[in-house]
Amino acid sequence: MTETCKPNLAGLSLSKLQSLFVEAGEKPFRAGQVMKWIHQRGVLDIDLMTDISKDLREKLKSTTQISLPKILQDFESHDGSHKWIVQVASGSSVEMVFIPEAGRGTLCISSQAGCSLDCTFCATGKQGFNSNLTVAEIIGQLWWANSKLGCFDGTTERRVSNVVMMGMGEPLLNFDNVMDALSIMMEDCAYGLSKRKVTISTSGVVPAIDRLKDYTDASLAISLHAPNDELRSSIMPINKKYPIAELIRSVKGYMASLPDKRVPVIEYTMIAGVNDHRQHARDLAELLVQLPCKINLIPFNPFSLSDYKRPSDSSISNFRQILQKAGYIVTVRTTRGDDIGAACGQLVGDVNDQTRRSSRHRQNAANRKVFGSTDNLAVSADRV
Ligand code: SAH
Ligand code: SF4
Repeated sequence: MTETCKPNLAGLSLSKLQSLFVEAGEKPFRAGQVMKWIHQRGVLDIDLMTDISKDLREKLKSTTQISLPKILQDFESHDGSHKWIVQVASGSSVEMVFIPEAGRGTLCISSQAGCSLDCTFCATGKQGFNSNLTVAEIIGQLWWANSKLGCFDGTTERRVSNVVMMGMGEPLLNFDNVMDALSIMMEDCAYGLSKRKVTISTSGVVPAIDRLKDYTDASLAISLHAPNDELRSSIMPINKKYPIAELIRSVKGYMASLPDKRVPVIEYTMIAGVNDHRQHARDLAELLVQLPCKINLIPFNPFSLSDYKRPSDSSISNFRQILQKAGYIVTVRTTRGDDIGAACGQLVGDVNDQTRRSSRHRQNAANRKVFGSTDNLAVSADRV
């Protein structure tokens, strides 16, 4: 069997790993043992898995592989955040970000190289789509973060306590692989993360949200960014296909399926002069009456291919107050890691440029440079 066709043990959920052992005439509990070695102890060498018989180890070595993506670069921000560039099999690279905070550490994971959805405010969207990450490439980001932080050798107190699927790509357009990766994150014999601390962020792929309940009970964040269809469609093309009313219906269905009381987070990226007016806040407050939720305001993070600007602190604070007075719990996301291009929406990786759109954006950016309109170029920390 060539290496490429061998099943990759690092990317198999518990049930798939159990099936692999059963099909090989072995006991299913071996799956839990292998998962502990890989995901809890960071061991990738089958020879070191000493609670497995030598014969079985030889069999595993000849019929399976353990393969994770490579880390190409490691950046540390002055605020303690980390950004790692991860190489994936398609030849592209993606980015993941670790944000340490008092009492917790959040890892922001990518699900795709690039993204097809082309939201006007997002650096990843500007690249177009390149590839879906495999399960091993998604869970490999968590493995690497634990490894780099020193969790496997017990040299650190820092660890990943929360995962947000808010890196590059639309997680629900890589549904099967993301679902398997989430199950490994939450599996007791792997990372054992609580369902409350694993969050899928989506731009609103309604049919996928509709079937989510059959696969996971992770928490949900919805990228709304506008209080009405006209504005939302102008900044998020996916809204033309799945408008706000359908999205809200679908999110309510998922939340109702969860056995515990949890509410979705509504993400609202605030862009100066686009969606940050007081009236937008009032309309948002009215719209969301029908959906119990928390609201997270994300001040727009600039990047080189966008002329959008971040609103002033007073606009953000006014917007927040209107929502709070209407009874909502509102947080404003503090920008972390912007000196290393790790803030929300600044992730770009290095996608094989396969779309005309990307080259058009690049050409536009080049023209702007030539003609001197460099508003956002000066503050950009990305690497396009
Ligand atoms: N595709 C998914 C997850 C990745 S984007 C989604 O859209 O939800 C993660 C979050 O970053 C989303 O809420 C997205 O709207 C936000 N975002 C994208 N570009 C941004 C930017 N330039 N500034 C601030 N937030 C941004
Ligand atoms: Fe894709 Fe999310 Fe960026 Fe929109 S915001 S382009 S859905 S990654």
